[in-house]
Amino acid sequence: MRDLRISVTDRCNFRCVYCMPREVFDAGHEFLPHSAILSFEEIARLAGVFVGLGVRKIRLTGGEPLVRKQLHRLVAMLSGLPAEITLTTNGSLLARQARALKEAGLDRVTVSLDSLDEATFQAMNDADFPVAKVIEGIEAAATEGLGPVKINMVVKRGMNERDIIAMAERWRGTRHIIRFIEYMDVGSTNGWRMDDVVPSAEVIQRIHAIWPLEPVDPNYAGEVAERWRYLDGAGEIGVISSVTQAFCSSCNRMRLSTEGSLYTCLFAQSGHDLKSLLRGGASDDEIRNEIAAVWQGRADRYSEIRTSQTSSLKKVEMSYIGG
Ligand code: SAM
Repeated sequence: MRDLRISVTDRCNFRCVYCMPREVFDAGHEFLPHSAILSFEEIARLAGVFVGLGVRKIRLTGGEPLVRKQLHRLVAMLSGLPAEITLTTNGSLLARQARALKEAGLDRVTVSLDSLDEATFQAMNDADFPVAKVIEGIEAAATEGLGPVKINMVVKRGMNERDIIAMAERWRGTRHIIRFIEYMDVGSTNGWRMDDVVPSAEVIQRIHAIWPLEPVDPNYAGEVAERWRYLDGAGEIGVISSVTQAFCSSCNRMRLSTEGSLYTCLFAQSGHDLKSLLRGGASDDEIRNEIAAVWQGRADRYSEIRTSQTSSLKKVEMSYIGG
C-alpha cells in the first residue's frame, strides 16, 4: 500500500460526458449532505493511520476538489505527514488557489484538459468552460512551484482523438507532462463502449510518427502511467492504459470516498465503511487493523477481466469514489 486517493467532495462544476453526464447528474441528483462527508479533521486522522501503514503518496481528488471550501486548510493538516501531497483538478479554480495551496504544503498538481479546441473541450466538459482558463490554472500552478504539472487528457474515439497531436505539440518542450488516458468504464452512467477506447499504443504510434519516442523506465514500481521520451530532448509524455494493458497486479492504491468508505479498486461495486468506526469512537489501532484486513483481503482485478458485459455492472461512480 503506497498510494491513497482521497475524494474530498462528490460535487463538480463540470459535467464531463464520460464522468458525470448531465442527464444523470442534473438538478434532481442528490449529492451527499454535509453531515455525511468526512470533515478535514476526520480525513487528516485517517491519513495519519494510512501513512503509518506505508502510504507515501496522497492525492486529493473528487468530484472537483477545489470546490470544497478552504481546501488549503486540509492540505496544511496533511503536510506534516511523511508523504507527498498532490491534487487532481479540472483547473477551473486553480489560478486563484494555487498560491494558498503551495503555501499550505501541496507538492504537485495534475490538471485535466481534454482538448485545446474550444468547441471540443466545451462539448466534453458540458459546462461552457473555456480552454484558456484551464491553461491559466496550469501556468499559475507552475509559477507557484507546483510543477512539473501533469496534464491528463482522456481520449475518446470520435470525440477528441484528432486533438492528440495538438496536445502533444502544445506541451512539448515545456516542463509539463501530458498523459493520455484510455477512456474507461468507470461507474455505470457514462454509456462506455469498447469501440470508444483509443488504445494507448495507437496514441504512441501517432505521436512517434511525427516526433520519435522511446520508452523510459518507471519512476517507481507500480507507476500507473507508462513513460515515453522524445528522442529530440523535448521532454516526456505518459500513457495510462487501464483498458488495453491492465496493471492490477502491481496496483498499490487505496481510495477513500467522500463519506469515508474505503475502496480497493476504481471499478468496485462496494466499499468498507470507516466513517462508522471513526464516529463510533474507535482507536487508531482499531482503524489500522480494519484497513490492514481490507488491504490483505483484496482480490480485485477488474481491468484484467473486463468485457463488454462487466462494463454494465453497477460500479460506484468515479465522482464519488475519487478519480
Ligand atoms: N475533477 C478533477 C479533475 O477533473 O481532474 C478530479 C476528479 S476526475 C474524476 C479525475 C480524473 O479522472 C480526470 O483526469 C478525469 O478526466 C478522469 N476520468 C474521469 N472519467 C473517466 C473515464 N471514464 N475514463 C478515463 N478517465 C476518466
